[in-house]
Amino acid sequence: MNPKHIVIIGAGPAGLMAADILSAAGVRVDIYEANRSVGRKFLIAGKGGMNITHSEPAQDFIGNYDKPDWLKPMVDQFDANKIIVWMKNLGIDSFIGTSGRVFPTDMKAAPLLRKWLSTLKLQGVKVHCGHTWSGFSDTGKLRFTTKNEELHVACDGTLLALGGASYPHLGSNGQWVSLLADKGIEISPLLPSNCGFNVSWSSHMAHYFGQPLKNIHAWVSGGGRKEGEILLSSYGIEGGLAYTHSRALREELIKTGNAMLYVDLMPHISQNHLISRLTPSGKQTLSNTWRKAGLDHIKGSLIRESLSKEKWNDASSVATYVKNYPLKITGMQPIEGAISSAGGVKRDALDRNLMLHALPNVFCAGEMLDWDAPTGGYLLTGCFASGVYAARGILQMLNFRSL
Ligand SMILES: Cc1cc2nc3c(=O)[nH]c(=O)nc-3n(C[C@H](O)[C@H](O)[C@H](O)COP(=O)(O)OP(=O)(O)OC[C@H]3O[C@@H](n4cnc5c(N)ncnc54)[C@H](O)[C@@H]3O)c2cc1C
Repeated sequence: MNPKHIVIIGAGPAGLMAADILSAAGVRVDIYEANRSVGRKFLIAGKGGMNITHSEPAQDFIGNYDKPDWLKPMVDQFDANKIIVWMKNLGIDSFIGTSGRVFPTDMKAAPLLRKWLSTLKLQGVKVHCGHTWSGFSDTGKLRFTTKNEELHVACDGTLLALGGASYPHLGSNGQWVSLLADKGIEISPLLPSNCGFNVSWSSHMAHYFGQPLKNIHAWVSGGGRKEGEILLSSYGIEGGLAYTHSRALREELIKTGNAMLYVDLMPHISQNHLISRLTPSGKQTLSNTWRKAGLDHIKGSLIRESLSKEKWNDASSVATYVKNYPLKITGMQPIEGAISSAGGVKRDALDRNLMLHALPNVFCAGEMLDWDAPTGGYLLTGCFASGVYAARGILQMLNFRSL
């Protein structure tokens, strides 16, 4: 009997993970990928040190997703420990960084991807690069366009793992949205997540563009404080701590057009202690007083930027701004430069195995689903885990159909 044949479209971490599970179970798998090579965003994720997952306890881990109850059954099946074991089986050791984040020992994605692709090849997976999915033919086959031709492919089931719309030059450009929307599938608009935000800096701040604000805490109104670093840029702010709050800031910007990020510039000193340090003694200049109190140039300039000049000598006002600095956010950077996208195929459009109600035997996984998470390994974990979960859903479907 011929093995069942599944087509996976999109060779990112979600699609490759599904291919792994399905081919290991004896299913014939063909992956179609628009790019000329696979896993390009995965490789970029490895450029600055690939943070593949996070070692915190499961209940904390899942709380990082905007829809934890949807993601939980997926992440339970392929959690941080399973990711570490999976890497180990591919010959890639990992380590846990001081923040609890998990990285491959060499911090890179390329060696892991190379070994993964060899395993997939051994399991019989065929990869067809340079094939762009462009919808369905009149007879319900998958339509692909290549440089020279249009191809119609029949199969027993399909997994769409087409990614979001950030870094579109790497392949995931969100063009699938109209193809699925035309079939009546509900999709939340793809929006920037883990992205930079706009701040209307005065010209005085230009000197500090490209410099980090280190060891600070930041929060949004009604949200928890997070520790980290923000990078100042000509348009505003970027970096881990801005990304952590990107969901809340984005939602506030959409609602009101503005948002506020509160920053504790010196979280390791109490306000009272700071007031006493900021109270000038003798003939000390203001700059000296501030410097001795621990306000470096960049933090001092931020205070000058927002606090009116007549209050600069008032220790109490300065301390209040240092401990509770209101950074007014005026907009978001475009999705093209974001680390990830929020939005995607809505949960209600899918059954519990991630199959589309409107298109039987067509499943979805990865960043194209309507979930959002901060950086910290949660994005890749969500993509791997939904790939595993959809693949198991496909196996269930195939068994059911072969009964
Ligand atoms: C700079 C950067 C750094 C990152 N760092 C991290 C990190 O350290 N940790 C972390 O957890 N996450 C990180 N991420 C996010 C992570 O890389 C993504 O969330 C993840 O790659 C998404 O996986 P995916 O399989 O859903 O989609 P993708 O990786 O986007 O793959 C989708 C694939 O589908 C293909 N495709 C799209 N449309 C079509 C079509 N019509 N026909 C055929 N093929 C198509 C695309 O070419 C692409 O190869 C980073 C992202 C960026 C941009």
